[in-house]
Amino acid sequence: MMTTGDTKLDRVLGAKTAKAFDSSLGLSTVGDLLRHYPRRYAERGELTAIAGLEIGEHATVLAQVERVSKRSMRSRRGTIVEARITDGHRSLNCTFFNQAWRERELLPGRKGLFAGKVTAYRNQLQLAHPEYQLFDAVTEQDEEEHSAAEQFASALIPVYPAAQGLPSWSIARCVRQVLDVWDGAEDPLPRQLLERRELEELEQALRKIHQPAQFSEVESARQRLKWDEALAVQLVLARMRESAREHPAPASPVRQEGLLSAFDRRLPFELTAGQREIGEQVAADLALEHPMNRLVQGEVGSGKTVVALRAMLQVVGSGRQAAMLAPTEVLAAQHARSLSGLLGELGTGGELGAPEHATRVTLLTGSMSAAQRKQALLDAASGQAGIVVGTHALIQDRVSFADLGLVVVDEQHRFGVEQRDALRARAGDEVSPHVLVMTATPIPRTVAMTVYGDLETSALRELPNGRSPIATTVVPVAEKPSWLERVWQRVREEVQAGHQVYVVCPRVGDDEAGKRTAEPEDGTEEPPSDEGEGQRRPPLAVLDIAEQLSAGPLSSVRLGALHGRLPTDEKDSVMRSFAAGELDVLVATTVVEVGVDVPNATVMVIMDADRFGVSQLHQLRGRVGRGSAAGLCLLVSEAMEGTTTRERLDAVASTTDGFELARLDLQLRREGDVLGATQAGRKSTLRMLSLLSDEELIAQARAEADAFVGDDPELTRYPGLSRMVAELVGDDRADFLDKT
Ligand code: ADP
Ligand code: MG
Repeated sequence: MMTTGDTKLDRVLGAKTAKAFDSSLGLSTVGDLLRHYPRRYAERGELTAIAGLEIGEHATVLAQVERVSKRSMRSRRGTIVEARITDGHRSLNCTFFNQAWRERELLPGRKGLFAGKVTAYRNQLQLAHPEYQLFDAVTEQDEEEHSAAEQFASALIPVYPAAQGLPSWSIARCVRQVLDVWDGAEDPLPRQLLERRELEELEQALRKIHQPAQFSEVESARQRLKWDEALAVQLVLARMRESAREHPAPASPVRQEGLLSAFDRRLPFELTAGQREIGEQVAADLALEHPMNRLVQGEVGSGKTVVALRAMLQVVGSGRQAAMLAPTEVLAAQHARSLSGLLGELGTGGELGAPEHATRVTLLTGSMSAAQRKQALLDAASGQAGIVVGTHALIQDRVSFADLGLVVVDEQHRFGVEQRDALRARAGDEVSPHVLVMTATPIPRTVAMTVYGDLETSALRELPNGRSPIATTVVPVAEKPSWLERVWQRVREEVQAGHQVYVVCPRVGDDEAGKRTAEPEDGTEEPPSDEGEGQRRPPLAVLDIAEQLSAGPLSSVRLGALHGRLPTDEKDSVMRSFAAGELDVLVATTVVEVGVDVPNATVMVIMDADRFGVSQLHQLRGRVGRGSAAGLCLLVSEAMEGTTTRERLDAVASTTDGFELARLDLQLRREGDVLGATQAGRKSTLRMLSLLSDEELIAQARAEADAFVGDDPELTRYPGLSRMVAELVGDDRADFLDKT
């Protein structure tokens, strides 16, 4: 019988080992194991840099024993053996309980591989109960040990993502066993592609990635395997774009002297060059008979709302409806208000004395009263409402529209490819609405080509005139505790000058008090941390801070609290009071992150700023400096100088270039997170491809994918490619494209 990619591992490795692979790494076939690539390669004699280890990671390090000691436990009977291993610069403690004999084995000077979970204890990195394998140990003729020694003799030692019970060296041994009997694989990539891009064959690449003789072999194998990943994703996206083009859409050409021109005439400001340019692109897209799928990215405050409204008016002007989806109810309500505000009397459709062309904006959210909701649904279904604004739940609810021509999705970063697909399908099979997605998160080009690869993209790169610059300062309360009092003093001064202030906290508080980690509200990202998990106090909470401030430093100001757990009408009324200037200071969670627009707010204080992601901080501070007065953002944090955490904050303080920060964020979040979890043991589609460094390759793969799909949409002449696509969209892995 042949051994192929589909062969179950138990046939080659035996039931017990196969079971271990399945349960701890989720690998069950030969193909799965061969795609479990080494994370890196250790060179003979070269020790692993301990400083590069991440807390919480299951690491394999090549290190040397520095010293070993044994002592009795204080509280219980038994002994602890502590071995300190080193890379020559930093050291790592390995502890063993009740295994006194290890003291005789772990002799100073000996080198080996050590594997285990990295933890921190009193500022010292450690591996508790690691598995290890010493290289110069030939005394015990254990089979595994022997093979490790053998492997050590080869130049490059593959270091695999490992798991408890399956150390890297065991994985390497099993891979060797599998490769010995493997009959190879048919190459899914067409011959011409391999030649055109100078790629090596799949079988060769897979063998080399696991057993390279030198680094150049690793390089060529990686190049080839990255192509597989990039091309599969791009083929899926090319097919999405292709099938979107085939769908008929409601063509809505601009009407002369219609609603849009009436609106443009009464706009109180000039459009920026970017707004005009994107406006023209969008107007042209909407006039076509296949659906627009466009992403508009633009910094907070760059004026995306006007762009979206003008698109909606073009569609409404030709007798159809537009829907606008926001991620939260607060935002939906705010959008409805600001659209109505911008429209003025053009938004009074159906009322007495409304001007010609006037339309109506209807708000539809889950928490409206039954009667209100019924009316809103009726307006949508009858076509009375030209513009319907609601939360994303709106689509899931299958609201019926008389004639939906355009869907605008605001603040896209919580909205994935699949949801967009569902949206396009929602108008039924005959016509798809046009889709315009707006995001304030600047998206690096590679991410745009993958995560948003089903969309055409345009960017608004300038802010409207009259926007004020935002200054950002880190307030390092660990080193300079007195600065915090200065912060509140500054807030009081700002309020005295007639301005308003946000204070943002990572957590709501109250019943979650005492919980160790933050319950992220509204998708708060947990940023990377370089501290030990166990030593972190709970993040500061809105309820606690609001209480402390109103009892103390801010007792003289009018203070309100806003968070996601408040009932909707209360949220609304707090937000409204703040917008109306009836509150001076708003203590809030990230519910203020997106879209909230209070031009009189000039200062934002972010408590525990290190608990937020880079992009999120950037988004948050965009809430201030929206009026004519300059904005100030204060990042309060206990992060110490010199830590990566602090570096992230300093970076946010140093630039307001969102694209630069997005790049940095991608880097710091270890990019894997961007496309979904890549924890050890979880299969993930992009194992080899790096969104940071493979921009060129991704662009090439996109061009190739377009050409293949354009030439043969069903890929019938390319069975290999067709299989790659099927595998990717098949077993439930379409979430590969979802951003976290
Ligand atoms: P975004 O949604 O991109 O964060 P908004 O659309 O909310 O930004 O615009 C921010 C503010 O700038 C709003 O008050 C809006 O009315 C105003 N604005 C938009 N475009 C212009 C422009 N061309 N000139 C002056 N102000 C503008
Ligand atoms: Mg907005």
